[in-house]
Amino acid sequence: MSDSYVILDRDGVINIDSAGFIKSPAEWLPIDGSLEAIALLNEHGFKIAVITNQSGIERGLYDLAALAAIHDKMRQLVSAAGGGIEAIYFCPHGPDSHCNCRKPKPGMFLTFASDRGADLKNTYSVGDSIRDIQASMAAGCRPLLVKTGNGLQTIQNNPQLNVPIFENLYDAATHIISTS
Ligand SMILES: [Mg+2]
Ligand SMILES: [Zn+2]
Repeated sequence: MSDSYVILDRDGVINIDSAGFIKSPAEWLPIDGSLEAIALLNEHGFKIAVITNQSGIERGLYDLAALAAIHDKMRQLVSAAGGGIEAIYFCPHGPDSHCNCRKPKPGMFLTFASDRGADLKNTYSVGDSIRDIQASMAAGCRPLLVKTGNGLQTIQNNPQLNVPIFENLYDAATHIISTS
């Protein structure tokens, strides 16, 4: 049997998002309860894959070394909370690159599934933007929306959106473990 994963968007789900992009470790600040949510999912047998658009790379706002330092900080804080992140996939391209990885395209989800042998139709994803939901649906995952980050705006702009909605990642994690 393949491992169970939960796919998480990063900005606005795990950490506080910024319209000015997260360009350095100092700017990466966790949303209340998100680190504990990852630990809770781990305790219940779920591994975590982070799938994130990082167009700030192509925009020249930060480089790959800065992104690696940001992810080191994220992993350290998750670890201090008792959890772990199994894999991180990021798209460094901008919206005009027409790559296959940038969400709403499902490319990173499909690469992840291929790398890890994950069963996407039984994999939850948690996101705050419509792109997260669209990519998850295109990949055949089970998308959940949180109200943190862009979440409230996503709900307002997509009133017909038919996905479960949660206050934050901890609330979504509590739901996921209750259904497993
Ligand atoms: Mg986001
Ligand atoms: Zn890309």
